[in-house]
Amino acid sequence: MLPHLINVTPEQEMLREALEGTIDRVSPVSKVQRLDNAKTFDADLHAALAELGIMGIGIPEEMDGSGGGVVEQAIVLEVLGRKATSMAVFMVVHYMITRIIKENGSDAQKVEYLVPLLKGQSKASFCLTEAGGGTDILASMKTKAVRDGDDWLISGNKMWISGASTSDIMVVLARTGEHRSRGLSMFLVPTRAEGVQATELNTMAINGYDTNALSLDNVRVPADAILGQLDNGFPQVVATLNGERINAAAVAVGIGRGAIEVTRDYAADRQAFGRPIGQFQAVQHQLAVAGIAIESAWSMVMEAARRDEAGEATDVLSSMAKWASARAAVDCTDTGMEIFAGAGFDMDLPIQRYYRDVRLYSFAPLNQNMSLNMIAERWLGFPRSF
Ligand SMILES: Cc1cc2nc3c(=O)[nH]c(=O)nc-3n(C[C@H](O)[C@H](O)[C@H](O)COP(=O)(O)OP(=O)(O)OC[C@H]3O[C@@H](n4cnc5c(N)ncnc54)[C@H](O)[C@@H]3O)c2cc1C
Repeated sequence: MLPHLINVTPEQEMLREALEGTIDRVSPVSKVQRLDNAKTFDADLHAALAELGIMGIGIPEEMDGSGGGVVEQAIVLEVLGRKATSMAVFMVVHYMITRIIKENGSDAQKVEYLVPLLKGQSKASFCLTEAGGGTDILASMKTKAVRDGDDWLISGNKMWISGASTSDIMVVLARTGEHRSRGLSMFLVPTRAEGVQATELNTMAINGYDTNALSLDNVRVPADAILGQLDNGFPQVVATLNGERINAAAVAVGIGRGAIEVTRDYAADRQAFGRPIGQFQAVQHQLAVAGIAIESAWSMVMEAARRDEAGEATDVLSSMAKWASARAAVDCTDTGMEIFAGAGFDMDLPIQRYYRDVRLYSFAPLNQNMSLNMIAERWLGFPRSF
């Protein structure tokens, strides 16, 4: 493993080491790769993470969580990005949902939905994106909820929804009013409710976690299925986006570091012209440059996480961290593929998985152009460009 250059507390280091040990024991890289090739969720690792208390990080102990906050979540997600990328993506969704319920849920909703999530007894999906586009989401949002007596009937179609085939519960954004941004509400919808149909998509990456098209056909939910306030769903989601951006950036850093580590090991072993290819300066320099970028990105992620935890505004810093991490991670995996050359095509080796999986966090949850738009507007002071 590469030495870590950014300081964390002794407790945070213990968390990192405990998590690394658990993953190595339960799901070593060969198993992660086998499950990824078989497009299978790693149920053993999920159970082991629950046992270790990873599901409850970010939620106080008095609410049945494990304590800790955004920094601890980032540390966990970097490790998972490095060792088990699909599970890292699962955990980004999990941490977003648990934060949304913690901040907006009623006491009854916390007991019914949050506690089982924190214990690893249930799984949740977040359903925002629609086929019309994920970036201009307010224009493309067509899913509607209409009143029927005391109940709501939800109809519409969602796209690219992680985990919808395997989750127990979904947080669904639907239109409940006319106003563009103040006319959306969040609903807690059981995935087994009548009228819910998830269809798994044949995707090229994050293969250990299902990605789905979701259809909702007059799905009946009671009045108390609303999460937070009526018509206030979009601001409630936006309030969690900086945290999600930081978490996605942490996974990207993990993928980038993982790619550097496996490539370093390969270059130390692979022979050409009578010596390991890692002895050629050109190979060393490519990895050193990739390493500088990923460590710079990680220092920004950690600073954004610390500020977010302290309650400070992090919209600019988290956008910078997200952009820098995604860019650096894509470069790390590209460098890895160059150095592995033909062996990069071997589906039993992890470098091709890093190379494919890293693409997700270039455009999600906030794509690279929108990160730059935000930095230009809120840091450089330019007028909004879109
Ligand atoms: C594997 C996977 C898992 C996902 N999981 C979930 C999930 O669990 N829940 C969920 O709700 N969604 C999920 N998504 C959807 C994801 O959040 C969207 O794909 C993402 O928001 C981008 O939306 P889009 O793909 O529709 O791209 P589009 O919105 O069509 O954007 C296309 C391109 O246009 C550019 N662009 C758009 N507007 C501008 C602008 N103003 N300035 C400059 N450039 C612009 C973008 O940069 C991008 O390059 C997932 C997607 C994938 C692939």
